Amino acid sequence: MENDASVTKQRTMVQAKVWILRKHFDGFPKESDFELKVEQLPEPRDGGECSNRLPINLPRNSIGLCVIGFSFAEILLEAVFLSVDPYMRPFSRVRMKEGDVMIGTQVAKVVQSRNPSFPVDSHVVSRSGWRTHTVSDGTGVKLLFSDWPADVPLSLALGAIGMPGLTALYGLEEVCELKAGETVLVNAAAGAVGTVVGQIAKLKGCRVIGSAGSDAKVAYLQELSFDVAFNYKTVPSLEQALREASPEGYDCFFENVGGAFSIAALPLMKPMGRIAVCGAISTYNDSAPQSGPFPHLTMIMNQIRMEGFMVARWEHKNEESLRRLLAWKQEGKLKCPEHVTSGFENMPAAFMGMLRGENLGKAIIKA
Ligand code: NDP
Repeated sequence: MENDASVTKQRTMVQAKVWILRKHFDGFPKESDFELKVEQLPEPRDGGECSNRLPINLPRNSIGLCVIGFSFAEILLEAVFLSVDPYMRPFSRVRMKEGDVMIGTQVAKVVQSRNPSFPVDSHVVSRSGWRTHTVSDGTGVKLLFSDWPADVPLSLALGAIGMPGLTALYGLEEVCELKAGETVLVNAAAGAVGTVVGQIAKLKGCRVIGSAGSDAKVAYLQELSFDVAFNYKTVPSLEQALREASPEGYDCFFENVGGAFSIAALPLMKPMGRIAVCGAISTYNDSAPQSGPFPHLTMIMNQIRMEGFMVARWEHKNEESLRRLLAWKQEGKLKCPEHVTSGFENMPAAFMGMLRGENLGKAIIKA
């Protein structure tokens, strides 16, 4: 293994830059909540011994380390594109402690490998967090399709042909059970998830209404053939804008925003309407919980189904679903806008910018 040039390309000590959650966010995140550190990484280690040492009754895939023959075999990853996503704000509170590396996903290149499943120069999507380099045992690392087309940017694996695209697809198909001819409402419509929601709904023969936070975003939604798009920040009344956009009401509501928007939209759902509760970004930076009218009676009278979901529920379908998204992209049916920030050093600024709505399409950082 030591001399096998096909799996080990270079053996130099590597320093990783990492962004740390210095202080838990209180309200809207601040620069001072983050800290940039440098880590010296160890050499990736050989694997192969783990399977012999496993306790006999430990489930093989329970901790992602136990693929026989390749257990613990490590790879060195170099970030190419990194993602900033809204979930990082609420998840930081429940899944992280101060001093942890910021959670997150990246497209990375394998630059050293002790694991033949991850050849040098291949690309992966990895849950490595906000890091330029990572020594990984393969946990949370997925190879990109080996036939990923050369004309499709790799960054889309973090966006429309990645987690946000899957979220849009599953929210519409699995939660809303969308049917041709129905009317769909989506908010944060010019974002990573929202742009895909609107386009898939159009592909399925639906009428689509979207809201977004700037006139430029609204113009883009019109380019994407949304039937109605409006700027929720400048309409005199949200309720009136929603009523005018679809006087007969909404069959499906793909909810990304929560708060006041959900209060305005709920009474406009048609009988037997379905609400896919995907996100609630208007509440993520609240220090105290918002309160609003109780929805129960409206839901009962109109027999509305409201279902929260996490994209990971349908992980078993991801391969086939990513192929569908990729095919739509290649057929010209799916546009995949991106808002790209250059430089790993700018990750906190890109994250805060995304929370403020600076992005049209997927917020991406080019390392
Ligand atoms: P986006 O690309 O849409 O970026 C976030 C957008 O939210 C901003 O661009 C901004 O657009 C909008 N926004 C920010 N603050 C507010 C506010 N107070 N009111 C209304 N809109 C606001 O992010 P994603 O597409 O990645 O995520 C969209 C939603 O989907 C989020 O709520 C996220 O948490 C959720 N999500 C859920 C998943 C799941 O598994 N359940 C998976 C992935 C995402 P604007 O200019 O229009 O205000």
